[in-house]
Amino acid sequence: MEKQAIIGGGLVGSLLGVYLAKRGYNIDVYERRPDMRKEQIQAGRSINLALSERGWLGLERAGLADAIRKIAIPMKGRMIHDLSGNTSLQPYGKEGQAIYSVSRGELNKTLMSEAEKFPGLTFHFNQRCTNSNLDSGELSFENTQTKETISQKYDRIFGTDGAFSEIRHRLQFTDRFDYSQTYLKDGYKELNIAANPDGSHKLDPNALHIWPRGRFMLIALANLDGSFTSTLFFPFDGENSFSAIDTPTKLRAFFEKTFPDILQLIPDLEEQYFRNPTSSLVIIRCFPWSHKDKYLLLGDAAHGIVPFYGQGMNSGFEDCRILDEMMTDFDGNWQKLFQKFETERKPNTDAIAELALNNYIEMRDLVAQPEFILRKKIEARLSQLAPDKWIPLYSMVTFSHIPYKTALDEGRRQEAIMKNLLLIPNIENLWQDDDFLRKQVLEG
Ligand SMILES: Cc1cc2nc3c(=O)[nH]c(=O)nc-3n(C[C@H](O)[C@H](O)[C@H](O)COP(=O)(O)OP(=O)(O)OC[C@H]3O[C@@H](n4cnc5c(N)ncnc54)[C@H](O)[C@@H]3O)c2cc1C
Repeated sequence: MEKQAIIGGGLVGSLLGVYLAKRGYNIDVYERRPDMRKEQIQAGRSINLALSERGWLGLERAGLADAIRKIAIPMKGRMIHDLSGNTSLQPYGKEGQAIYSVSRGELNKTLMSEAEKFPGLTFHFNQRCTNSNLDSGELSFENTQTKETISQKYDRIFGTDGAFSEIRHRLQFTDRFDYSQTYLKDGYKELNIAANPDGSHKLDPNALHIWPRGRFMLIALANLDGSFTSTLFFPFDGENSFSAIDTPTKLRAFFEKTFPDILQLIPDLEEQYFRNPTSSLVIIRCFPWSHKDKYLLLGDAAHGIVPFYGQGMNSGFEDCRILDEMMTDFDGNWQKLFQKFETERKPNTDAIAELALNNYIEMRDLVAQPEFILRKKIEARLSQLAPDKWIPLYSMVTFSHIPYKTALDEGRRQEAIMKNLLLIPNIENLWQDDDFLRKQVLEG
């Protein structure tokens, strides 16, 4: 009987477990951390995440969307906070469209519990994969608590062990394996905005809050308990940076000047800032993702991206959905399946890596610029006038299943058109004439 192992019981590993178990396979999921349903642990790289259409479809096809909907908070747009404390809402898409704030821990726990309902699937916690034999499929594990070591042999091994994947590390020793890791010059720090004494949110929970400040930014997403998790994305070095802000006095002065309204929201700012870790952001690229008919990487292990499009997990869930779709006509040839998957998927995950990087500049800077706001209004009108001809890039990425590469190419075409359009004198008034827009853009 075919034996399969999933290394990494994070978000992607747990969802993949459900997909494979549904197909009747026997699966062991190895996770180096303790069972987060029993022990309180920090569940990973961010407290909460934005879940959007691609993620939802991945969950839906696995039959899990209803369970997750209960823990998801809709965010209809970006709430921009300017220096004077004024706010303005920029809708993300059409009426009724939203992205969703979800607690990483709760999401992971729910996925694990759903996966465990299948009798063929077993989680092994506190088991860190330390080695793998690429030819035989033998895996070695160390129990992170007892230090006891074991080894087990598998027919198929799925590496969903994240950006610093042990499985990928082994593949790096194979011939013609491409690999790169690139760190951003910026890192991030999470700061908690506690709920009001009555448990209500201090800000509108149905928006993703952004304090764009040019070279850096702060964002906040709501949690179900009335709190928000805010994240400061900030350079490591330079005039305004993690290394420069190194005393409570400097921190307060910096926030008074740059994020004055945050001081009321986080009264214990100094304590949190110097207690909470500063984390780095890395982009991982590699290829191939498979080895023979034995190994396949998915999720961050195959393609780690920066979080500025909110697509890391979403693309990992899309990986699972697409692999499952490909398995519908599966003829038993695993090597062919793995190669088809990686060949089709790689251009798309490269595209979202690029889009995510570009979106940092959009979020921290452009969203506050009048030209960007005008462009968004024109694009919204264009997509009302011709929904099939003009789907804004953000909507293609966030509210559709259009392959990321197609979205990137179409986004470039739109960019060129909008650049020319915005050069037309008096465009800030002219665009409101539908005939003008039709002639200039849609019939052009
Ligand atoms: C600040 C920040 C914000 C983000 N926001 C968003 C967002 O809004 N929307 C979005 O879609 N994505 C977001 N992401 C990206 C998202 O977190 C990742 O894409 C997602 O977690 C990838 O899931 P994964 O299961 O592939 O990897 P991980 O979540 O990293 O899970 C890997 C699992 O493998 C386990 N593991 C690792 N090594 C071993 C080993 N040797 N043996 C056994 N187990 C092992 C780990 O303990 C972990 O449980 C964000 C990322 C960051 C850093």
